[in-house]
Amino acid sequence: MIKQRTIDIPTDFHDKRVCRDYLCGFCPYDFLRDLPVNYGSCPSVHSPILKANYEKAVQADPRQTFESDHVHSTERFISSIRKRASTLHTRLHKLPKDKKQARTMRQTVDKIYSNLLLKMDQVERLGDEGKVTEAMEALKQVKELRRNRQANQEQLHSLNNSEGHTNNVSICDICAVYLPADKVDTHNKGETHLKFFELRQVAKELKDSHLRKSIYRQSSRADRSSSKSEAKLQTA
Ligand SMILES: [Zn+2]
Ligand SMILES: [Zn+2]
Repeated sequence: MIKQRTIDIPTDFHDKRVCRDYLCGFCPYDFLRDLPVNYGSCPSVHSPILKANYEKAVQADPRQTFESDHVHSTERFISSIRKRASTLHTRLHKLPKDKKQARTMRQTVDKIYSNLLLKMDQVERLGDEGKVTEAMEALKQVKELRRNRQANQEQLHSLNNSEGHTNNVSICDICAVYLPADKVDTHNKGETHLKFFELRQVAKELKDSHLRKSIYRQSSRADRSSSKSEAKLQTA
């Protein structure tokens, strides 16, 4: 009998496989899900039941909150997009290498062409002199040089094409996408770009709110401990 594999679904919201961003009400992957550019899907579990359990637990005891994890995770997500943009920049900056390569290739093609002209002259001369065998041998070399020239020309052509292509492309640092020169304006007003601005705004608000709460908790603790000390002094 074939044993059926049971899928181990987390049943506790504390489980590390559960998306804490989702529990806190905002997973960046969900937020960017329907965009034309694919930013992947969340690798962690999203479960409405566990989210409801989490919300109940935090309501009963606010110390159970995952807010700090959520703030850091959202920041990590944004920095992963920055890293992705920087990788795209590195790829574009390979251009000078391609230019150098194209120059060398052009020189090779020119050299092959001048050798070809010399060899064709030789074929004609040998033919005029009636040296058939030598002329046939030189003709073989002409054919070889033609093949060689064509192969190098094709390579040069593709290098020039890629160079022209990358010259007309920039990178959007906010969304980490390639932008053809004529698409920059449309992109800057487009859904993907605006969503990323919103994502950064949400991350900033989360961080600020978390910071405010931490400061408030710390000052409340300090107030409580100074009131206790005062009470002790008064009873002493
Ligand atoms: Zn998620
Ligand atoms: Zn953008």
